[in-house]
Amino acid sequence: MIEVRGLTKRYGKKTAVDNISFSIQGGEIVGFLGPNGAGKSTTMNMLTGYISSNVGTISIGGYDLLEFPKQAKQQIGYLPEVPPLYMDMTVREYLNFVYNLKGCKFPRQAHIADICQVVRISHVYHRMIKNLSKGYRQRVGLAQALINNPEILILDEPTVGLDPKEIVEIRNLIKRLGETRTIILSSHVLSEIQAVCERVIIINEGHIVTDALTEDLARSAAANSRYAVRVAAPEDQVVPVFSAIPGMLHVEYVGCMEPGTVDVMIEAEKDTDIRRALFEECAKRGWYILVITPVGVSLEDIFLQLVETPDLEGPARLEETSGMPEPSETTETEEQK
Ligand code: ADP
Repeated sequence: MIEVRGLTKRYGKKTAVDNISFSIQGGEIVGFLGPNGAGKSTTMNMLTGYISSNVGTISIGGYDLLEFPKQAKQQIGYLPEVPPLYMDMTVREYLNFVYNLKGCKFPRQAHIADICQVVRISHVYHRMIKNLSKGYRQRVGLAQALINNPEILILDEPTVGLDPKEIVEIRNLIKRLGETRTIILSSHVLSEIQAVCERVIIINEGHIVTDALTEDLARSAAANSRYAVRVAAPEDQVVPVFSAIPGMLHVEYVGCMEPGTVDVMIEAEKDTDIRRALFEECAKRGWYILVITPVGVSLEDIFLQLVETPDLEGPARLEETSGMPEPSETTETEEQK
């Protein structure tokens, strides 16, 4: 459905996207994940033909974007990070305007009514866009992206600035839309990608650092062998003795939380169950294991490992995933009004 080969975009001396390639099959929901400034919007803007690349090719549904821009773009619906809305129009006026702009040929009223139903804005159809909450404006943005009945939806940070309830609603809406379409969605929020996408392409400093199924990433996060261990043993012997156990990768002294005990963090080779060897080693020496707790590596840890950059501002960080709601422009929901 989408083939990207050797795509590069430079802004002056800054290379925002550096020689990236990927393919997306019909029906996939793919997340573009990366910290701010990674190159997500630049890539999306190139995919939609909004800006051109310096080098590389993009083919949409078999049409090269440069050679056949009309045929390629017809298959795409795009929701930029800031939805292109006219605040002084009603939803009805705006969607009719977009319908004309895109030269749609469907039965107008029925088609627009269908889309409004899909994104659940029928009840605000005659309202001015400026009087809608951010969540509802985002739905109107999705409606405009759907007007030409595209097979591919490209959504740039679709939940930025929404409150937690709106975020859940928009994510559910995207999942429903993904049942019949190919969706590419960018986000700097890992939980969003996890909640919505089957596949994740992680991008950092213009490069693709990972392209994997979301569940495979989650599985690799779960498959580590890290444990927090508290053992009643002589303080100076624990680290050297544990370090010598075959399959042990790393032993870190954490401290002494209870008298006569030592706390360490151990990490063993993947797929090695180090616990038995640990037990035997301790039993041999008359040491008692008081605590052994698996310590998971979160997907966020994996992400940070992939995108960590030794710059002065510290590693690239994801935004807190659930966090506090951002200030909403309205306190009422549309249903309450
Ligand atoms: P993301 O969407 O991942 O936050 P962007 O694609 O917006 O990242 O930006 C990638 C890099 O390109 C950033 O360093 C950004 O400052 C730079 N950049 C983006 N747009 C422009 C532009 N129009 N002119 C100059 N630099 C830009």
